[in-house]
Amino acid sequence: MDLVIASGKGGVGKSTFTGSLITLLKDYGIAAVDADAEAPNLHLVFNVQHWNEEREVIAAHTATINSSCINCGVCDSVCIYEAIYEADGQRRIKEYLCEGCGACKAVCPVEGAIEISPSVSGWIRTAFTPYGPLVSAELDVGKPNSGKLVTEEKNIAKEWVKEGKAKHIIVDAAAGIGCQVIASLSGANKAILIAEPTPSSLSDLMRAYYLTQHFRIESFLVINKDGINPGYNGLEKFARENGVEILGRIPYHSAVPKSLSSMRPLVEFMPESPPAREIRKIAEVVRGWL
Ligand code: SF4
Ligand code: SF4
Repeated sequence: MDLVIASGKGGVGKSTFTGSLITLLKDYGIAAVDADAEAPNLHLVFNVQHWNEEREVIAAHTATINSSCINCGVCDSVCIYEAIYEADGQRRIKEYLCEGCGACKAVCPVEGAIEISPSVSGWIRTAFTPYGPLVSAELDVGKPNSGKLVTEEKNIAKEWVKEGKAKHIIVDAAAGIGCQVIASLSGANKAILIAEPTPSSLSDLMRAYYLTQHFRIESFLVINKDGINPGYNGLEKFARENGVEILGRIPYHSAVPKSLSSMRPLVEFMPESPPAREIRKIAEVVRGWL
């Protein structure tokens, strides 16, 4: 089983839910993939203090200007990322703004003054937690995001399955519908979409849902922070009209931020709190899929 937890919108409690779900299913051999490379946080839910392995991912390119530059300024005019500046009579590159597109090199009149070299775009880390193996990615500041990091993470999780270190994969996808989410959904069997009862969350949920439909992935809905918007039924209406099963409604409760600050999965930290009880019910359904 390759299950993806996704949400069109950030901040709806996806990682809190995913962390608790994996905790409840830990005896079933779950490999956790934190695919939100811009803001990974599953390792915080699991209180990971030590990575078993960490490696750089070279998936970006950066320009450098060497001393043969005659400071003509032609490169400035073509860099739409405004990564080139002048200091002390020399052109220089702001590495965190450079996208490695090569336009500056193409127009530079001095052969070899600009070099485009591969650069570190982020890191992939693995840890063996009490809840099972975890692979997590983190983008370097300013580096372009792509699905490559997520694909590499999923390949590691698939290896764990092949080697018998895990049986199933649960991916905590990034928010939105970009490359990272598309890579997360690639090859998945099912998706659980998390949304909160607000019009903006519904709008983002719809986009995430249509993405799952594009990939023909059966998807389910979990309503988080239930009760924050009394009288609002947009999510229910959407689910009814699209035949999406609502797996559960996790109530808004102070136990959630308390568990986050204690760096423990909610279902362990306050197992009898209303949101933990609801997540247990949802986990029962997911257990039936494994
Ligand atoms: S175009 Fe080439 S020579 Fe001119 S400022 Fe840029 S790097 Fe220097
Ligand atoms: S490689 Fe592209 S982004 Fe980087 S400095 Fe040159 S023109 Fe700008």
